[in-house]
Amino acid sequence: MGVGVLTAYADFLPVTPDTPLISMGEGDTPLVRSRRLGATIGCDELYFKLEGCNPTGSFKDRGMVVAMAKALEEGSKAVMCASTGNTSASAAAYSAYCDLPSFVIIPKGEVAMGKLAQAMAYGARILMVNGNFDSALNLARDFTESHPVTLVNSLNPHRLQGQKTAAFEIVDTLGGSPDYLFIPVGNAGNITAYWKGFKEYQSAGRSEVLPAMMGFQAEGAAPIVRGAPVANPQTIASAIRIGNPASWEGAIEARDDSGGVIDMVSDDEILDAYRLLASKEGIFCEPASAVSFAGLSKMHRNGLNLSGRRVVCVLTGTGLKDPDLAVRSVSNQATEVEPSIEAIEALTISGRA
Ligand SMILES: *Cc1c(COP(=O)(O)O)cnc(C)c1O
Repeated sequence: MGVGVLTAYADFLPVTPDTPLISMGEGDTPLVRSRRLGATIGCDELYFKLEGCNPTGSFKDRGMVVAMAKALEEGSKAVMCASTGNTSASAAAYSAYCDLPSFVIIPKGEVAMGKLAQAMAYGARILMVNGNFDSALNLARDFTESHPVTLVNSLNPHRLQGQKTAAFEIVDTLGGSPDYLFIPVGNAGNITAYWKGFKEYQSAGRSEVLPAMMGFQAEGAAPIVRGAPVANPQTIASAIRIGNPASWEGAIEARDDSGGVIDMVSDDEILDAYRLLASKEGIFCEPASAVSFAGLSKMHRNGLNLSGRRVVCVLTGTGLKDPDLAVRSVSNQATEVEPSIEAIEALTISGRA
C-alpha cells in the first residue's frame, strides 16, 4: 500500500537492477462502487476508478514515475513534454522530486488554471506557444530528437508501461476483470495502456476474461470516431482537446480486439455527467473524466443492457484542476446570510419543513 507502482508491479515493468524505485505514492487509487447513478441506468455493479487521487491529481503520475525513473537510469539531464495541463503538472512534480530540470510546452489559453498553477509551483520552465496541443507535441518531439533532453509525453513507451498498472489494480480489487471499461480518449495513450494491462494480466493467469474497451471522445475533438484528424479541436474538456492522437492505432486495436467501441459525447452530455457524478455520488472529477460516465449513459440510452454486468468508469483527474468551470456550470450558489442562529434556522431547518 502506497509503495508506488514501480515497487508494486516491478515484475510487469521495465525495472532493472539499475532502475531507481522512486515513488511519490502514485497508484493504489480507490475503486468506489456507485450507490446512486448505476441504478438510474440499470447497472447494479458500477465502479468508479478515482485517478484524481494520484499525487498531482491525475492518472498521468503512473506513467510519469516510470518515465522519470528510466530517465534517471539513463543519466538524462532534463525532461520535456507538451501538455494540455496534466502531463506538465505531473512532469514538473516528478522533476522537482528527482532534481531534474523540466520544460513544458503548453498551448496558450487552453490550460486549466489549476494545472498551470501546479507546473508553476513545482518550478517547471513553462513555454507557452500560440497553437494547439498537437502543434505543441510536434515541437516537443522535434526538439527532443535533436537535443539531449528526454521526451516524457506518451510517445515515451515507459509512460504507457506505468499507466497499464491501473488495469492491474482493477483486476486485483475485483478479483477479475470487469465486463466493460469506460474511458475518455484524448491522445489515446491511456486506453492503449489499459488494454495492454488487461491482456498482460490475463496472460499471467490473473484474470480469465478481458473487458470490452469503451472509449469516448468529445464531439468537437473526435478524430478517431470521424476517421480523420481534426484541425481545430473544440470541447469544454480541455484534457481531451486533441485533434491527432499519438496512440490512434493503439485505440483502434483496443476497440477491435476487445469487441468495444470508440464513440463520442457532446459537451452538454459531458457537463451533465460532470454535475451528476458530483451531486449524486460525491465525486468531483474533471470534465474530461466525466466523459466515461457520459459515454456509459449514452450506451444505456442506445439500448445497451447492463443488467448483471460489471462496469468500471475511469475518472481520470480531479475537478479541483478547474474550479472556475465548476462555479460557472452548476446552478447551486451560495446564499448570503446574517451571522445569527435565527437566520441560519430560517434557511435550513424551517426552510425545509
Ligand atoms: C490525459 C488525460 C486524458 C486523456 O488521456 P489520453 O491518454 O490522452 O487519451 C483524460 N482525462 C484527463 C484528466 C487527462 O489528464
